[in-house]
Amino acid sequence: METQKIQVPDWAYEFHGHKCPAMPIGYRAGLTAMKKLGVEKASNKELYLFCENGPAHAAACFLDGVMASTGCTYGKGIVEKLNYGKNAIVLVDLKTKKAVRVSMRPAFFEKALNSEFVKLRKQKVEPKDIKPELVMPLIENVKQMDENVLFSVSEIFEKNVELPKGTFDWQNCSNCNEIVFDNQSKIIDGKRVCIPCSQK
Ligand SMILES: [Zn+2]
Ligand SMILES: [Zn+2]
Repeated sequence: METQKIQVPDWAYEFHGHKCPAMPIGYRAGLTAMKKLGVEKASNKELYLFCENGPAHAAACFLDGVMASTGCTYGKGIVEKLNYGKNAIVLVDLKTKKAVRVSMRPAFFEKALNSEFVKLRKQKVEPKDIKPELVMPLIENVKQMDENVLFSVSEIFEKNVELPKGTFDWQNCSNCNEIVFDNQSKIIDGKRVCIPCSQK
């Protein structure tokens, strides 16, 4: 069986800021989930991403890769971090309400966490200071690895996600004068104020 080598675009590394193996793994996890759902990268709000990453742990760079391949970004408001401390995602097709969960297989993840790269990271060496000779083979490995070795992919299941209703309505905060959208502002003593001003 021939394994197809995945291409990770240069802009994804630029966006992420450095070269590491976890971002490309996330990129592939997104591709795998989209393939299973039969969907394309979100140009608007077609998809919704739940990422099980925690706030701070090894290989959390994964999420930037998923955002890059799926188009599920924080700016579009279609990502939610669950903070489970796990490298897994649930991708939802908002149109059909079909979802799939893609998680890193423990055997592969364990090998990655025992790599020289992670050992150096543990010693507080930043990814950009780790020699390309060490990083690039890991990235190449991720790009050509059999998908079934990298990930466990669930059956498709139903998931209902309600996106908050967007608004184009705004007002100037009566305290700081900055523009604040109506669904986040508060009325205090009959005056419209932004959240930071409401806490003063
Ligand atoms: Zn990284
Ligand atoms: Zn204000």
